[in-house]
Amino acid sequence: MIELRNVTKTYPNGTKGLNQINLTVEKGEFIAIVGLSGAGKSTLLRSINRLHDITDGEILIDGKSITTAKGKELRMIRRDIGMIFQGFNLVKRTTVLRNVLAGRVGHHSVPRTLLGLFPKEDIDLAFEALDRVNIVQKAYARADELSGGQQQRVAIARVLAQKAKIILADEPVASLDPLTTRQVMDDLKRINMELDITTIVNLHSIDLARQYATRIIGLQAGEVVFDGPVSEATDER
Ligand code: ADP
Ligand code: ADP
Repeated sequence: MIELRNVTKTYPNGTKGLNQINLTVEKGEFIAIVGLSGAGKSTLLRSINRLHDITDGEILIDGKSITTAKGKELRMIRRDIGMIFQGFNLVKRTTVLRNVLAGRVGHHSVPRTLLGLFPKEDIDLAFEALDRVNIVQKAYARADELSGGQQQRVAIARVLAQKAKIILADEPVASLDPLTTRQVMDDLKRINMELDITTIVNLHSIDLARQYATRIIGLQAGEVVFDGPVSEATDER
């Protein structure tokens, strides 16, 4: 589903965010990326979705190169990838429903969505997504009236409405309390299992990684220092 071939990302100031990474992710995996601050976790996710260009190597999504894709081809690949961020990335002053509908934008021509017109099928998909993360009763609330955990569930619903095949979550629970953290991680795990969505989650906590992931990848200074099933991820490494 995702393949990184010899991927290096060097920032303009010379910092190597990633150094010759090789990685293959199969459909339906739930992977936790762990490592200290600055290890390259965000750089890895941003590279996969091509939020920035890599310096060397190639990244394939479902067999297609996102590294060389342009225009429509790039948009089509990106449509399959949903991003979830630490800061939720919602439009705060509009409704939850509109935030979830934003996941449909890539499925339509631009002029239509600029006017905010979505077909009924999109509205249905948005409600179905909200229902899946148990927040349908908040559909008409303003996004910034919700708690952090609820906002993150809206962000998950947006990715579901997008019908993404891949979820990349960058420290999705970093600002949440332990109970809310568990709820958001439970949602991500349930969606991964029910819909077979390939999921990569950046986490600070190795304990959370052990509880939820099937495979753990450890990064350090832009390099993979551990890659294996949870059962092999001990503190003694
Ligand atoms: P985290 O450890 O939570 O990922 P960072 O401090 O590494 O946070 O990065 C926070 C933001 O600052 C990111 O958008 C990252 O791209 C940017 N950033 C990190 N280091 C640098 C740097 N040396 N120069 C410019 N931007 C940076
Ligand atoms: P993590 O997500 O694991 O905290 P990052 O991927 O944010 O790590 O950062 C990896 C390395 O790249 C760090 O040394 C960071 O300072 C550096 N870095 C990140 N973003 C930038 C940037 N925009 N410019 C320069 N250096 C950056």
